Amino acid sequence: MICDLCASEQNVTQYQVKPRDEYVNLCQTCKEQIQSDNLDEAHFNCLNDAMWSEKPAVKVLSYRLLKKLGRNDLLDMMYLEDDEKTWAEYEEEVLKDSNGNILQDGDNVTVIKDLEVKGANKTIKRGTTVKNIRMCDTPGHVSCKVDGIGSVYLKVEFLKKI
Ligand SMILES: [Zn+2]
Repeated sequence: MICDLCASEQNVTQYQVKPRDEYVNLCQTCKEQIQSDNLDEAHFNCLNDAMWSEKPAVKVLSYRLLKKLGRNDLLDMMYLEDDEKTWAEYEEEVLKDSNGNILQDGDNVTVIKDLEVKGANKTIKRGTTVKNIRMCDTPGHVSCKVDGIGSVYLKVEFLKKI
């Protein structure tokens, strides 16, 4: 297998181009950079070729990366079908706290009102600091551990980033 983006043969594995159940082959270098969001522009010169791929999933991933890199010159040359464009523009849910600040994995927050924990007969008091929140599968919530309570999902509208 070779990497669909840079044609490397190093540790090539499949990578899902969400939200569709379609995959591209990615080498370790490409995958690590995409997952860390830390794109090396020189490495991704390979997109000059990948953007012309016959595989829609490769085109869509190339489009997203070119956008992140700010390569409007190349984006302008790309041709995507309408449904491919919708796919390419898909973004994972962005969660915002009570002040509209974007929340990310590892953030620390305070709770802005008393929250009852369902089934546990406990309350997370207003002003409680919660460290190291994590994104989770429940829409509008983050998962975290609260001292004295344990693992819970909290609604982002009741949190304030600190
Ligand atoms: Zn690669």
